[in-house]
Amino acid sequence: MAYEIVTKNTVRDRFKSPARPAIWADTPEKDWNNWVWQQQKRIKSMDVLEKVLNVTQEERDAFAQSHEMFNMGITPYYASLMDKDDPNCPIRLQSVPKKGELFVAPIDLEDPLGEEKDMPVPGITHRYPDRVLFYTTHNCPVYCRHCTRKRKVSDPSSAAQTRQLEEGLAYIEAHKEIRDVVISGGDPLSNSDERLEYILSRLRAMDHIEVFRLGTRNLVTLPQRITDSFAQMLRKYHPVFVHTHFNHPKECTQEAFDACAKLADAGCVIHNQMVLLKGVNDDPKIVKELNHKLLMMRVRPYYIFQCDMAQGISHFRTPVEKGIEIIQALRGWTSGMAVPQYVIDGPGGGGKIPIFPNYIQGREGKKWILRNYKGDRYEYIEP
Ligand code: SF4
Repeated sequence: MAYEIVTKNTVRDRFKSPARPAIWADTPEKDWNNWVWQQQKRIKSMDVLEKVLNVTQEERDAFAQSHEMFNMGITPYYASLMDKDDPNCPIRLQSVPKKGELFVAPIDLEDPLGEEKDMPVPGITHRYPDRVLFYTTHNCPVYCRHCTRKRKVSDPSSAAQTRQLEEGLAYIEAHKEIRDVVISGGDPLSNSDERLEYILSRLRAMDHIEVFRLGTRNLVTLPQRITDSFAQMLRKYHPVFVHTHFNHPKECTQEAFDACAKLADAGCVIHNQMVLLKGVNDDPKIVKELNHKLLMMRVRPYYIFQCDMAQGISHFRTPVEKGIEIIQALRGWTSGMAVPQYVIDGPGGGGKIPIFPNYIQGREGKKWILRNYKGDRYEYIEP
């Protein structure tokens, strides 16, 4: 029998490109698809934002009072995902200032993860025995209003200059116990390809370095950044893991699909680290839809982070029960691949602490009394 192969790419077709706001309707494709153009045209002022959205008085006031502390920056592409009339649009909540960020609660922390205290040289956080976080830039295409590193992201004085970069590389080279390097920022893909390749080539030349990860939100906020030549460059330095940060199904567009496909085709393993945010994704249905879309994009849902105790983001924090409820609504009800691990990053530098729904109902000697995802009781007896 002759088998006729069906070649229609049905999965990509399920993802849609956003419609462009009117001010960019006539922008040539070659500019719109160019990541440098997207960076240059970032929305940084109320004047431009007013041309894209029907801005509310609250957003105007919040911008006026916050932009000196933490810039606004939104790529035209990310702005095209926003609902221009709905101030509670999940994309808008993540990128346009709101009055909640002007409030600093007494329990808020400037450095919620204690990253500065574990910094042996500027630009390196070395907390765990075998891995480090390596800051390479202060810049991001979009400044997320929920950012945990607001204290230095978007601040040019915190940028990793050449000397700091060299000191960081020298530290990693000297510490043979390090096997895993998280290249971070800001967003490391704000570096040029040449600078990134220099960093990757230096790390790959160190015999004790096994893997590195690029922690980037460009797949979400500036997917045009993933060019063919960038993906080809990464091929030389495998294994390369990419850790990204999709928070809502609206972010899963055809552009994002294509960016993920380029990285996956180039051999990168892509993981998603969602942050649980009130009003954005604090709903099991939204998280399930997001995770299903991510799997179709070849991105594995990896973590759900409880929102940190950083200053000016308390309006995004949910009760911990919400995260447990979300995991409970996923586990067993959908593929295990779509169930990430829910964690709280221990405030002050405790590291990631996993939080689970309780499936253990009790123990009688060698007998464990368990419940499954439907609440049915099971007994497991040890030998
Ligand atoms: S991309 Fe990451 S580092 Fe940059 S502003 Fe967003 S959360 Fe912060």
